[in-house]
Amino acid sequence: CGIVGYIGKRNSVPILIEGLKRLEYRGYDSAGIGILNGNDSIIIKNKGKVSLLQEKVQQLNLKSFIGIGHTRWATHGIPNETNAHPHSNSDGSLFLIHNGIIENYQTLKRILINNGYKFKSETDSEVLPHLIDSFLKKGNNLVKSVQLALQEVEGTYGLAIIYTKEPDKIVAARKGSPLVVGLGEGENLVASDVSAVISHTKQVVYLEDGEVAVITQNDFCAKTIYDEDIRKEVHEITMSL
Ligand code: GLU
Repeated sequence: CGIVGYIGKRNSVPILIEGLKRLEYRGYDSAGIGILNGNDSIIIKNKGKVSLLQEKVQQLNLKSFIGIGHTRWATHGIPNETNAHPHSNSDGSLFLIHNGIIENYQTLKRILINNGYKFKSETDSEVLPHLIDSFLKKGNNLVKSVQLALQEVEGTYGLAIIYTKEPDKIVAARKGSPLVVGLGEGENLVASDVSAVISHTKQVVYLEDGEVAVITQNDFCAKTIYDEDIRKEVHEITMSL
């Protein structure tokens, strides 16, 4: 339902929580964040309100310069902590948040299970970290693995992905579910709605269907899922909160 991601010079944790609060009005049943702490991934999820997630997160006193957050509106699998996003691959090196519906998830899940992948949740979304993992295992980098995975996927997605072995970037992708990249000074954001980036920057880039964005602390580029380069226009938001 709601997506926010941050990479930059500040602690991402309060920025993600604030972003999720700005996305609350769209409705949700659970929320979660995933951050990188050095080479480790830390995922914290909670059923219910963002304020409950916030309490849980505050007790841990976390600091991280890169992270993603999600509010879930369940379509596949009941609202509970396990089904909340982020979802990760088996060793936890890759985690992602997903808006939308993977229509062919049952087919993909069957293939992945036959290849030894183990699933924790009942969501359609969880096929994505495992599918991307299968391309990483073949020696592809993160962006290429995401592109190859998305070539197999039918349905809709807004995605934000972090991989511990490429800790300098968030990869985002869109099809039928809005995503906007916010370009700041020494920091960049990604969100499903401008309301989650507007308090940090007014410079935004709207992703289109079939596009994959690579977002680093000081840079941004977009490609198609078939690896064609795309030039994106930067828009200035005039509205304020
Ligand atoms: N289909 C996914 C799920 O049920 C994502 C739902 C959403 O857009 O929040 O977990």
